Amino acid sequence: MNYSNWIISNKTRLCCVIGHPIDKSLSPIMHNEAFRAKDLDYVYLAFDINEPHLKKAVEGLRALRVRGFNVTMPHKVTIMNLLDSIDRGASLVGAVNTVVNDDGKLIGYNTDLDGVIFALEAKVHSLKGLKSLLIGAGGAARACIVAMVSKGSKEIIVMNRTFNKAKSMVEDLSKKLKMTLNVKGLNINSLKRAIKSVDILINATPIGTYPNLEESFIPQELIKKDMVVFDVVYNPRKTKLIRDAEKMGAKTIPGYEMFVGQGVASFKLWTGIDAPIDIMRRAVLKALG
Ligand code: NAP
Repeated sequence: MNYSNWIISNKTRLCCVIGHPIDKSLSPIMHNEAFRAKDLDYVYLAFDINEPHLKKAVEGLRALRVRGFNVTMPHKVTIMNLLDSIDRGASLVGAVNTVVNDDGKLIGYNTDLDGVIFALEAKVHSLKGLKSLLIGAGGAARACIVAMVSKGSKEIIVMNRTFNKAKSMVEDLSKKLKMTLNVKGLNINSLKRAIKSVDILINATPIGTYPNLEESFIPQELIKKDMVVFDVVYNPRKTKLIRDAEKMGAKTIPGYEMFVGQGVASFKLWTGIDAPIDIMRRAVLKALG
């Protein structure tokens, strides 16, 4: 980043990310590039906050009147009790990744939802009538399901390493979203059976993330040419799943697209203006190498 004509003054507004650990976060690079590109007097920092300090840290951010902040692991759920209100999408997901400080009132959002929609819409014209297979039952999986249902998805099969966790997530979301989600155990036979009937395959687990670069939950030969493969993992920029899907001729969506999409939505919430998407994507890709 070129800092030469960047003036930080007594008017500069602060945004930040809190989490633990935080040293690998790409958000400061992405948002500072975006603020500079739009000539906004904002700066974005990262704060390593562990669980015992979360409450005090949030009160401090409120008192300092920071404009807003991102929340990452492990605080996305616990932060909810420390905020003044929670947007409907974030309530459905059950997690907050973005907070806006509105004159001392802290409002929680989940822009991972926007990230999922941003990533999918670039490759899938409409989700209506399409069937998806989603692996995982954590925060990213919940965001994928809520986002896809909001865009008209009616058939989602969920599989997870721990079946009971997927079962309780599916029961909870089926009730909240007023639809029936399908849950199955995760093994090679269930994968083989399910994959035959689906149009979209989504990895919402950390499988394949750095340093386990050669891990994937699915043998390459099971990936179909006419399917869309979306991996939420963004480090590395191309996971084994994405590389295998490319080899099989499938359409692919790497996780950095979701990451950029959530950043674009957070930027808009804090600044009220449209984010410079290409600049943010370029900053993320450069940082990922
Ligand atoms: P989480 O809440 O901890 O959930 C992790 C899920 O992955 C659980 O369902 C877990 O299964 C499953 N899992 C973990 N390790 C596994 C393994 N070795 N084999 C099979 N299943 C495994 O985490 P999360 O917040 O959902 O995040 C998941 C991934 O998404 C992370 O890599 C995160 O960085 C990424 N993410 C990306 C974005 C983006 O913007 N691209 C946004 C959010 C998250 P069990 O239930 O059996 O434990």
